Amino acid sequence: MIDLHTHTTASDGTDTPAQIIENALAAGLEALAITDHDTLLGSDEALPLAAARGLRLVRGLELSTRRSADPAPECRSVHILGYFFEEPAPAFRGWLETLRSERRTRNAGISAKLAALGMPVELEEAEALGRNITSRPHFARLMRDKGYVPTMQHAFDVYLGETGLAYVERADPEPEEGIRRIREAGGIASLAHAFRLNKRDPAEEESILAGFVQAGLGAIEVWHSDHDLSSRSRYTNLAKKFNLAMTGGSDYHGAHKPDVRLGRGRHSDWRVPLSVLDDLHARAVHAERRRQ
Ligand code: AMP
Ligand code: MN
Ligand code: MN
Ligand code: MN
Repeated sequence: MIDLHTHTTASDGTDTPAQIIENALAAGLEALAITDHDTLLGSDEALPLAAARGLRLVRGLELSTRRSADPAPECRSVHILGYFFEEPAPAFRGWLETLRSERRTRNAGISAKLAALGMPVELEEAEALGRNITSRPHFARLMRDKGYVPTMQHAFDVYLGETGLAYVERADPEPEEGIRRIREAGGIASLAHAFRLNKRDPAEEESILAGFVQAGLGAIEVWHSDHDLSSRSRYTNLAKKFNLAMTGGSDYHGAHKPDVRLGRGRHSDWRVPLSVLDDLHARAVHAERRRQ
């Protein structure tokens, strides 16, 4: 059993890299990928620790991208997982730094809007919580702790969600750019929780996927906490059709999503076998040889 989609304190998870390794071992995982939002720092910190503890760890990340031309706002956000079996090229790390500074500008905007709404949250407070990657959940948590809202979900529903009063859009890259950059850095890109493309028309969803494959997508996430049996079977079939590797993971965030368990997801109704990682690795090596 493995888990290829998890978050640590390097983004919006609550386990430190050291803690997630212990939790993965306790859960009986044979391999783990850490896929923090827009940063490799969670994996970087975990790699030597996992080696010392005898856990197979894959360096990863989860890029936030946006299909800005889609007329439906709820269909624009696309998350692309990247897996690296070798150290990624330095240019990729440089690009991640520019994403981080765009995030900082956006967060300053959210802070200003909240102040205007009479609910001050200083940028510095949010950054103290978010450390490396400060995101909307950190604002939501502070809003709850300060008593502005009853729950973090309420903060999203009224203020921080895409139609919320304090929402500020970030200059996200297009999915094709994210995919291309992961490939150029020697990684393999997987479409995260494809279900959240939010397309009810299967033909439209498939044509979006075809565009990503054209851009160099190498895999698709089949197992995920938000994927029921019919989604898993749909994405298994699409993986075959487009000759993509399959990936899967819980999207573990620690205490931020207490119902999501490492390796088991929300309903514990699937397991990702180790052979999935071996196939992903083999394809990544093959693609890299062809690229060079
Ligand atoms: P950010 O990267 O700052 O845009 O924050 C994105 C994160 O906010 C996602 O990974 C989710 O964990 C969380 N999030 C986004 N929209 C919602 C929502 N409507 N309700 C709850 N959490 C959300
Ligand atoms: Mn998250
Ligand atoms: Mn995601
Ligand atoms: Mn995730």
